[in-house]
Order: sequence, then C-alpha cells, then structure tokens
Amino acid sequence: MKFAMIGAGAMGLRYGILLQEAGNDVTFIDTWQPHIDKIREQGGVYVMRDHKDRHLTKIKLETPETFDGHPDMFIFFTKQMQLQDYLDRCQHFFHKDQYAFTAMNGMGHIEKLQKYFADDKIIGATALIATVLPGPGEVDFMGKRGAGKMNMCPLNEKPDATCKELFNQLQKAQMNPTLTDDFTGTLMTKVIFNSVINTICTMFELPMGEFGNFPGAYQMGRQLIDEAYDICARAGIKLVSSRDEEMAALDHNTRIDMPLHYPSMYQDMTKDRPTEVDYINGYIADLGRKYHYEASTHLFVTQAVHLAEIHRQNLAKQRAIKAKQTETQTAEQAQTA
Ligand code: NAD
Repeated sequence: MKFAMIGAGAMGLRYGILLQEAGNDVTFIDTWQPHIDKIREQGGVYVMRDHKDRHLTKIKLETPETFDGHPDMFIFFTKQMQLQDYLDRCQHFFHKDQYAFTAMNGMGHIEKLQKYFADDKIIGATALIATVLPGPGEVDFMGKRGAGKMNMCPLNEKPDATCKELFNQLQKAQMNPTLTDDFTGTLMTKVIFNSVINTICTMFELPMGEFGNFPGAYQMGRQLIDEAYDICARAGIKLVSSRDEEMAALDHNTRIDMPLHYPSMYQDMTKDRPTEVDYINGYIADLGRKYHYEASTHLFVTQAVHLAEIHRQNLAKQRAIKAKQTETQTAEQAQTA
C-alpha cells in the first residue's frame, strides 16, 4: 500500500518504518524544523530498540508544503493540539478516494478528521505500543520486535477491502492488530486507560512500575475508572472491557509490561511541551457534564496536571533568569579585573 505519515514523531516513525520494512511505500510529512534538518543532514533517522542497536534508516521526508503525492492512506500521528494546524497545512493534497487512519491518544481528533474525510474513509485505532523520540532525528522503539498490540475499527463499523488490507499490512509489520466492532467503545476504553496511567505518572514524575507497585494504586485508579465508566454508561458508550478487566490491564501494564517506561504525557511535560490532558481526563469530564454527571476526580486531575506543567515552566524561567544573572556577573568581574 501507499502511505503518507502525517507527523513523523515517535509513533509516526514507528508505524511508518515498520510498514516500510513490510514492503509498503511510505512518505513521512513533518513540520518540526530541527527534526527535518537533522534527518536530512544524517540521510535518515537513527532507530534504536530499547536504547540499543542504533542504526540509520533511510526515509522519504517531506513537509506539508512540498508533498504532492497521492497515497492510498494518510496515517495521523500528531499530538491532539497539533492536529488542526497539520490539517490546515495538508488539506491541499487530500482527495475523496483517500483514507485516514489514526491511533492517537485522547478524543477530539475524529471530529476534526471528519471535516476532511468521509465517514466511510476514517479508521480509528488505539495502540499499546511505547515509543520515544529522544531528540531530533532519532527514535527508540520500546519493547522487543512484535511487542505491543493495537485495536482498530472503521468509523462506520463496516470494514471494507482497504481496511482489511491495512489490517494485513499491520499484521505483517508485527503491530498485532485486532479488528473490533465498536468504534467509540474501542477509542474510549483506551482514553480511560490513559486517564489513569498517563496523568498520575506525569503529575508525580513516576515510571509506570512505581505507580503500579504503590499500595494505593488500585484505589486511585478505581476512582477514575468508576467515574469514567459511569459517564460512558449514561452516554450509551459500550466499552471493550469491563471495569475489573480495565483495572487488571492497568495493573499488568504498569507492573509487568512496562515498569520502567514513562508515558508520553510525562515526556511532553519534561520537554516543556503542552500535554494532552484536556483531550483525556478533560474530555471525560466534558462528556460527564453533557450527561449531568460531575466527574470531580477527572476535573481535579486535569487541573493537577496543568499545575505541574506551570510549575515546570516557572522553574525553567527561574533557571534562565539565574543563568543570565551569572553571565552578567561574570562579565562585570572580567571588566573589573
Ligand atoms: P511526538 O511528540 O513524538 O510527535 C508528534 C509531532 O510532534 C511530530 O510532528 C514531531 O515531529 C513533533 N515533535 C516532537 N517533539 C517535538 C518538540 N520537542 N518540539 C516540537 N515538535 C515536536 O508524538 P507521538 O509520541 O508520536 O504521539 C502521537 C500520538 O500518538 C499522540 O496522540 C500520542 O498520545 C499517541 N500515542 C503515543 C504513544 C507513544 O508511546 N509515544 C503510544 C500510543 C499513542
């Protein structure tokens, strides 16, 4: 198949490179200039697996302004708050026959994609696949080859030949896809999963295992899960797993599968980038409001993550002021001497 990855960050590179290795024609489209410059200077992307085996992989890289191809499918892997800008800049090469696939976290992206793609051309997914972008031009695939898994479902819940071909290619790329039959339920189940791990580990700057092994983890997780499941019940959303299954998945994922991993929301915060919390816990709270349910824990957690973001930004500002003062003092001392 012919793919264009919209967003060549951690997940765009992982999906794109594995699909390329499985024999597909893949072009990467990105807008982050230091990343673009580094990839061009190196002649590709440095790929690692679990921090090891660093090797250069050649990729075709374009910007929204230079791309003029006609892929079968666009794969969207931007952060939620970047998506509209990418859509605005890419819309000139979208056509009616093309598909949009995405496994972004959070909610809000599907409504945006619907403005550019017909419902029978949108395929949503969720990925339990951890990937890190240590810096411009390099990516670290966490977990062994074939580790991780994903769920996918077309928006109209009727998988057509293209959707089935995508499934085959993802299987060949060892992404372990499962085709599910409930679009909103599939996506919301992952939003709820992230609403516990991503936010709590980000607020307290914890690797996932440290949260999973905390004696109070079950109580904290259960409160968020119960609120979210109550809201989904009111909204008529059929989730893919039961409350107990979701709790068991959280426990397994944090303590057994990825104890040393920091979720992507934490990675954004530590790089002083905005987090996706408004599209995860904030989305659940907004949905609750629509159904006259006050999701007080999700509201609290959303604000707590924003507080942590602001705190880090203030610390960065203080460090910059201190560095400037030291620079001025050194210059004055040099003049006096
Ligand atoms: P990412 O931040 O690595 O990349 C997204 C975009 O941001 C790319 O265009 C990239 O070039 C750009 N970017 C990266 N670092 C930047 C920086 N410091 N300054 C400016 N721009 C920068 O995002 P991702 O991890 O690939 O996530 C994409 C989507 O997939 C998100 O919705 C995320 O929640 C979801 N997701 C991520 C993972 C994971 O393990 N990374 C797993 C499952 C789902």
